[in-house]
Order: sequence, then structure tokens, then C-alpha cells
Amino acid sequence: MTVAFLGLGNMGGPMAANLVTSGEQVAGYDPVPAAADAARASGVSVVDSAAAALAGASVVITMLPSGKHVLDLYREIIPTAEPGTLFLDCSTIEVADARAAAELAREAGHLAVDAPVSGGVVGATAATLTFMIGGPSEAFITAEPYLRSMGAKFVHCGDSGAGQAAKICNNMILGVSMIAVSEAFALGQKLGLTDQALFDVASTASGQCWALTTNCPVPGPVPTSPANRGYAGGFAAGLMLKDLRLAQAAASSAGVATALGRHATDLYTEFVADDGPGRDFSAIITTLRENGPA
Ligand code: NAD
Repeated sequence: MTVAFLGLGNMGGPMAANLVTSGEQVAGYDPVPAAADAARASGVSVVDSAAAALAGASVVITMLPSGKHVLDLYREIIPTAEPGTLFLDCSTIEVADARAAAELAREAGHLAVDAPVSGGVVGATAATLTFMIGGPSEAFITAEPYLRSMGAKFVHCGDSGAGQAAKICNNMILGVSMIAVSEAFALGQKLGLTDQALFDVASTASGQCWALTTNCPVPGPVPTSPANRGYAGGFAAGLMLKDLRLAQAAASSAGVATALGRHATDLYTEFVADDGPGRDFSAIITTLRENGPA
């Protein structure tokens, strides 16, 4: 049996390549020729439709831009899948869409898991992704060997949608904390503190967090952070905005007040409109330092 891999973009391409490296037979499909060509070069057997990738597959992995892409594709391919196929969606999508996708698969007699990732393209390439998994234990157990070929850490968060819920809650913390860290550096600078002095205190005090100690938004204190290379690479601001919006959609349907999550969404909306979606999300400090009192 083969693995069907649908969506061979920035993330899906290297993930499919790692499955090949682990000895899986992978049939892949992506409508974008450049993505298909890159996957072919890494040993994926590229075919010209999703249905063709499914022929003989016991596992279907999707890595797509949005919930609409996932649901449209699931509606198209589920009727053609072998009974008992595992549907493993690694895209970042709305919790409600993840539950609907899993329901479509389950109603047709298949197993379904939502397994969004963190770790970015670097983690996808090095097979060090963290997977946040939602779905019944039986489906998780079936999925585990494939996840192991693509990642290094796996957390079974609960039933369908729980993986997406964990991902967007985590990234809401990250978006808010990056803004808090950036505001602190902006204020510290105006008060005459050097970035290094603030870092030396906060990184070992109660202000300590990933946004500060790993992805520090100012150049200098953490030489590997994107700030040291003009905010190139890293986690693109456009993807942070996408995840903050997903968190707001979930908060709204769950009736939960997330005032800071909403404010972070507004600030990243403005930042992406002005700066574009491509630079690391820590580049938001450049506008926060320029702006006067809000
Ligand atoms: P991408 O745009 O590079 O890749 C998505 C691919 O899906 C594209 O190549 C597109 O052509 C393909 N596609 C669209 N419709 C398709 C269909 N019907 N059948 C087959 N392929 C189809 O995006 P990406 O950066 O690889 O991200 C994929 C997902 O992973 C997104 O949900 C994103 O939010 C999430 N994610 C991305 C990162 C990152 O750093 N890039 C990190 C974590 C999570």
C-alpha cells in the first residue's frame, strides 16, 4: 500500500520527501508544477490528480492552505478511498473545519486525524516537526509510524479538532507574547536601556518566554534569531496572522473573550498590510518602535 500525499508546497514537499527517506511508497499530487517537480526530484511518485494518488493508498496525508481546501478535497476523494483508509490532515485550519473533515471521513468508514504542526519549513525538512493530534486513539496509533517519519514530537491532544485547538491556542500565546516583548524593548530603549541589558534581566526573570529567549525581536542578544538577518526566514508574519484569525474565529464560536488575542490580530493585520506577509513575525517590533502612543 502507498501513502497519498496531497499538497506538496513549502511544508508538504519536504514532509513527503521524509516519508520516502523512511522507505514509504509515496504518490503525490499538487496542481502547481514547481511543487510537483520538486517532489518528484525527492523521490515522490508524482501523479496528475488527487484521485490517481489515492489508487492503492491506505493513508492519505493533506498539507493544504485552508479548511476550504481540505473540505473540498475530502468531498472529492473520500468516495474513492479504500475502506478503512487513514486520513491525516496536517494543514492548519479552523477547529470546526477539522471536525467537519473528520466527520466526512468517519461517516464513510475511514479513520481521521487532525495533526497540525509547528516547526516550520526547517522542521519539515529536518523531520523534527511537533505534531498536535486530534482524533480517536485507534486513528492516532495507526498514524504514529507516519508521523515519526516526519517529526520528533507528538502530543495526542484529544478527539477530532483538538490538535487544531492546541495549535491555535499556542500560537495565540506566541503572537501576544511577541508583541509584549517588542513593546518592552521599545519602551526600554526610550528609557535609556540597552537591548542587551533588558535581555539579560528579562531572560532570567519572570519576563522569560520563547519570543524573548529564542526568537528575540532585536538583533544582538540571541544571534540565531531572525532579527539578526533582517527578519528573513523564521515564521512568516502572514502565517502568524492566519493563526491569530483562526483563534479569533474559534473564540467567537466558543463565546470566549480573548481581548489580547483580538488586539494582537488587529496589530498583525496592520503590520502585514504595511510590511507584507513574508518577514518573520518578530519584525513587528520595527513598527512598534516607530509608533508613538496609541
Ligand atoms: P504552501 O502554499 O507552500 O503549500 C500548499 C500547497 O497545497 C500548494 O503547493 C498548493 O498548490 C497545494 N494545493 C492546493 N490545493 C490542492 C489540492 N486540491 N490538491 C493538492 N494540492 C493542493 O503552504 P505551506 O507553507 O506548505 O503550508 C501548508 C499548511 O501548513 C498551511 O495550512 C499552513 O498554515 C501550515 N503551516 C505552515 C508552516 C510554514 O512555516 N510554512 C508552519 C506550520 C504550519
